[in-house]
Amino acid sequence: MSHDVTFIPGDGTGPELAEATRRVLEATGVSFTWDRREAGVDEYEANGNPFPDETLDSIRRTGVGIKGPTTTPVGSGFRSVNVLLRKELDLYACIRPCKAYEGVRTRFPETDIVIVRENTEDLYAGIEFERGTPENAELRGALEKLGAKVRDDAGISIKPISVFGSERIVRAAFDYAKANGRRKVTAGHKANIMKFSDGLFLEVARRVAEEYPEVEFEDRIIDNLCNQLVSRPEEYDVIVLPNLYGDIVSDLGAGMIGGLGLAPGGNIGTDAAMFEATHGSAPKYKGQNRVNPTALMLSGVLMLRHLREDGAADRLEGAIAGVIRKGERVTYDLKPTRDDPTAVGTSQFADAVIEEMNA
Ligand code: NAD
Repeated sequence: MSHDVTFIPGDGTGPELAEATRRVLEATGVSFTWDRREAGVDEYEANGNPFPDETLDSIRRTGVGIKGPTTTPVGSGFRSVNVLLRKELDLYACIRPCKAYEGVRTRFPETDIVIVRENTEDLYAGIEFERGTPENAELRGALEKLGAKVRDDAGISIKPISVFGSERIVRAAFDYAKANGRRKVTAGHKANIMKFSDGLFLEVARRVAEEYPEVEFEDRIIDNLCNQLVSRPEEYDVIVLPNLYGDIVSDLGAGMIGGLGLAPGGNIGTDAAMFEATHGSAPKYKGQNRVNPTALMLSGVLMLRHLREDGAADRLEGAIAGVIRKGERVTYDLKPTRDDPTAVGTSQFADAVIEEMNA
């Protein structure tokens, strides 16, 4: 059977990374019917829309996609394609495994954690009131009537965290733990300070945890969690977090395993799933066949597992791990120095993975 998959190359270094990933996915022997669709800054410049309806329609049809990074211009231009995608398809769970593979230089070689980040709520809900606007003044007036004084010159961002949103993300974390033989879920929060948002998240997490007696549960205040992650990473397993902490801890995790070039991700909803690296489009390296495709390839591994192609996922992950362990045919970021002349390019890294898989 062939899997219908929406294939979005993205922009910047995205197309090179996506092509390398497509090649290794095909080399697993699994059959794919790619529906190639555009998104990102190149598409915006060519046709005035960074996220065409056909791209969204394709994902709605296939239910699964793999995507290279896309640039979001700072300050002006258009809204983030990634945010739109997650919103339109309600991809509420962001799964980001952070595993330190042998051969990568890291101070945290024991790291093998999975961050499950809530994708739709929290300070990222987009409910913001700009300083000096009538809406801001109206909100401050309403708050003052409720006994909460906010300075006249404040900008305001709202942090909604619901029972619905918390329940489904905590369930996603426990379901992931169960499906992947993980032993523990840790919920991170700041419930001591934000009692009615983070406090609610924690209350819901504790309740949902009772439905999964076979998986251990604990909670940590987010600052303490960050401290512990870099002192005793081996004690952590699956970590479930509201949106903002999830965003920050994902990059912390990426740093712990040797850099952004190694950190994969999947955004999962009820009806669709989109797999993409944690990193961005690294535009300064565009077209240079230089950056590391591991993060997107490992996102492909997550996609294979999502498609219930576990054998192929194991083979591909094993081959990537093998190439990294040998340390010869790897990209510059995995070499002892960044100007190491033995570093290979994006495409040659893919060749090495394919050879390793067929060895
Ligand atoms: P970035 O992740 O693109 O790059 C930061 C630096 O990390 C790079 O300069 C490079 O040194 C390193 N790096 C990133 N990916 C690498 C790889 N595969 N191999 C080796 N090194 C790698 O972050 P940025 O510069 O802050 O963002 C660039 C653009 O990407 C922005 O427009 C941002 O909005 C966008 N972005 C997109 C996504 C996405 O599409 N999912 C995610 C994050 C950022």
